[in-house]
Amino acid sequence: MSVHTASYYAATANDDTRHPQLSEDLNVDVCVIGGGFTGISSALHLAERGYDVVLLEGERVGWGASGRNGGQICTAYNKSMATIEKLVGKDGAQAMWQVELDSKEMIRERVERHNIDCDLRWGYLHAAAKPSHMTWVNDTHDEWQRYGYTDTAVYDKQQLEEHLQSKIYHGALWEKNAGHLHPLNYALGLARAAKEAGVRIFEDTRALSLEKGSTVSVKTDKGSVRAKFLVAAGNAYLGNMIPKLHRRVMPVGSFIIATEPLGAERASALIPNNDAVSCTNNIVDYYRLSVDGRMLFGGRANYSGYEPADLFAAVRPRMLNVFPQLADARLDYAWGGNLAITLDRLPHVGSLEGNIFFAHGYSGHGVAHTGICGKLIAQAIAGTAEQFDVMAKIRHQPFPGGPIRMPMLALGMMYYKMRDFLS
Ligand SMILES: Cc1cc2nc3c(=O)[nH]c(=O)nc-3n(C[C@H](O)[C@H](O)[C@H](O)COP(=O)(O)OP(=O)(O)OC[C@H]3O[C@@H](n4cnc5c(N)ncnc54)[C@H](O)[C@@H]3O)c2cc1C
Repeated sequence: MSVHTASYYAATANDDTRHPQLSEDLNVDVCVIGGGFTGISSALHLAERGYDVVLLEGERVGWGASGRNGGQICTAYNKSMATIEKLVGKDGAQAMWQVELDSKEMIRERVERHNIDCDLRWGYLHAAAKPSHMTWVNDTHDEWQRYGYTDTAVYDKQQLEEHLQSKIYHGALWEKNAGHLHPLNYALGLARAAKEAGVRIFEDTRALSLEKGSTVSVKTDKGSVRAKFLVAAGNAYLGNMIPKLHRRVMPVGSFIIATEPLGAERASALIPNNDAVSCTNNIVDYYRLSVDGRMLFGGRANYSGYEPADLFAAVRPRMLNVFPQLADARLDYAWGGNLAITLDRLPHVGSLEGNIFFAHGYSGHGVAHTGICGKLIAQAIAGTAEQFDVMAKIRHQPFPGGPIRMPMLALGMMYYKMRDFLS
């Protein structure tokens, strides 16, 4: 039986429900592949609309990125709204902004409705890593104001030091309506809600092959599912099962360490308002406090496909660069996982063959965008899909490089590291 990657989240998971392995042949409306936020959200919304839904997870619910991430609920996309306007026009960009607002509202609403115990907190700091990055801070603030997003503030260096006990930044953009949560407990809570809504969840059940047609047929080790619709929600872990999707995303490793509990006073001195924080570098540091007063510090993206042999040693220097005062803090956990990026860093959402729906490649914004994409997939299957259509309009290019795409991406990564260093 599969287990979760050893992490702070696995150690503090508050629901140990095991779902059975599929060992029969089923005939249903929708088969969802993947038990992360995207898959569970699609399944939940579909079941609420009355569809008969089966969800297949190769490992455990929340085993992938959804149960391992930084828990940061980010605003907007990994591209400016001005860039998005160029891709989908002004109205399309407005629709995508609404998707963005709805995505965070959905987290708030689901947590409340299903009583999900996942340490949800609001407040977010985008800390300027270089003096020149204050231009991004000011421009982003102004752009968001134009989109009617006004619960924000720009801090200069001195003001920021009241909100973050680090000397290395040059100011920040603060926002009220982004934040953080315990991602594994959120995933487990959503799965409980999906099960209560009628979704049949199977763990240790990898979809091994897919036969397309007016009904799709999915084979697993000990069973099979025939369905009118398929939702492919395997993100960075789907592999080459659907080649057209595989070429559009690239798995990227990201790594997190967790200190020992620091004590309430020491922890809250570091981030007095308990905001989530990320920096403005291309290679992003992201961090926050856990509910028991640990520093959860993530960073050091890896595009080569290899996990560093010593994750503690790989991430700790980045944490000490921000918080040298944590030099004496014991490290209790270190873990990593794969997220998926697209070439243009916008989520890849769409359908294939009329009855295969997908959303993946959230490019670091998946905690917020997965939930809403699940809902949009459910709407698309039900035939009411305006927002889905706008997102699906973005023309995504495949990653260049064929079989050598990973080394090429590692080279690209070195370029971004150099830009962080030089800018
Ligand atoms: C270390 C780390 C830190 C991150 N930090 C943040 C953050 O702070 N904020 C943020 O917004 N995003 C963050 N992300 C990204 C975010 O976690 C993802 O975008 C999001 O969780 C994707 O959810 P998903 O459901 O699409 O994919 P996943 O959660 O990866 O789920 C996919 C699931 O599909 C299953 N699967 C794949 N293929 C098959 C198959 N053939 N059969 C059955 N099952 C299959 C896998 O086992 C897996 O459980 C981070 C990611 C990582 C790894």
